[in-house]
Amino acid sequence: MKDTILFRGYHYPMSAYRENQEAEGITQLSLDTKPICNLKCTWCYNGHLNGEGVSKDSLTIKEKKELLRQAREIGAKSLVIPGTGEPTLDPDFYKLVEAAYEIGLTTVVYTNFTGNIDADKIKNLHDLDVSIGAKLDTFDKEYFQRWLRSNGKESFKKFRRNLDSLLEIYSGSTKIKEISGQQYSIHRVIANMVLTHENKEELEQIAGFCKQDNLPLFVRPVKPVKWAMTNLSDWKMLGKKPLAAISQKLLASCHISETVHQLICALGYSHYGQEQE
Ligand code: SF4
Repeated sequence: MKDTILFRGYHYPMSAYRENQEAEGITQLSLDTKPICNLKCTWCYNGHLNGEGVSKDSLTIKEKKELLRQAREIGAKSLVIPGTGEPTLDPDFYKLVEAAYEIGLTTVVYTNFTGNIDADKIKNLHDLDVSIGAKLDTFDKEYFQRWLRSNGKESFKKFRRNLDSLLEIYSGSTKIKEISGQQYSIHRVIANMVLTHENKEELEQIAGFCKQDNLPLFVRPVKPVKWAMTNLSDWKMLGKKPLAAISQKLLASCHISETVHQLICALGYSHYGQEQE
């Protein structure tokens, strides 16, 4: 039986979304945290926001809690924190997650694992029904420091340590469900990889690592900004052929899904050129 992969917090049946919509409610509340990040990824599309507007128009924790309450009242099941920066650096982040848990919301958060996070906090997130999207672009310290532009040598070590803790704490958290002859595996952790020319050789290793740890891997190209925005067709062609070949090889060894393979072939990937100042 073919397994369908779902990410907890987005895993509800279509009927739940439909019912909420018909009742003019919502199923998911997305809430950004403050735009603060300790990394400076070369391709970050929020880079211009980093540190900006932190106190100008941010909601207070009291207002955020009230928003959660209202969202729950009109059907929300999950709180998604995509992060305009690194969410764990927002001083309200842990309070918000706790408030969401207390009223029965599942939280989904995307983190780079180098902010205000350690093994105890990961355990706390696990116990508060939080699903985690882990940034996993590289296992190479040089790449990490050069392209993610961490501002301290400790960041890479912290990333590795927290990734290990995550896998240990969340091990066994995937639930298998069978509905009408279809098998679903509902994951509480997924990995996200931004693919570039500079880390393309790592794709196989990262895909193998994720497969070994039963971690769904989502591979995305760099979002087209600046030059690429006005030369989209050229951008799409960059490196398309070599990457499609690597992807085909991984598909054959079941390291990636057909969907990921198609995405890679369709989008190609981006060369972001030079470092920004
Ligand atoms: S970790 Fe995310 S928010 Fe932070 S700089 Fe990188 S891409 Fe931007």
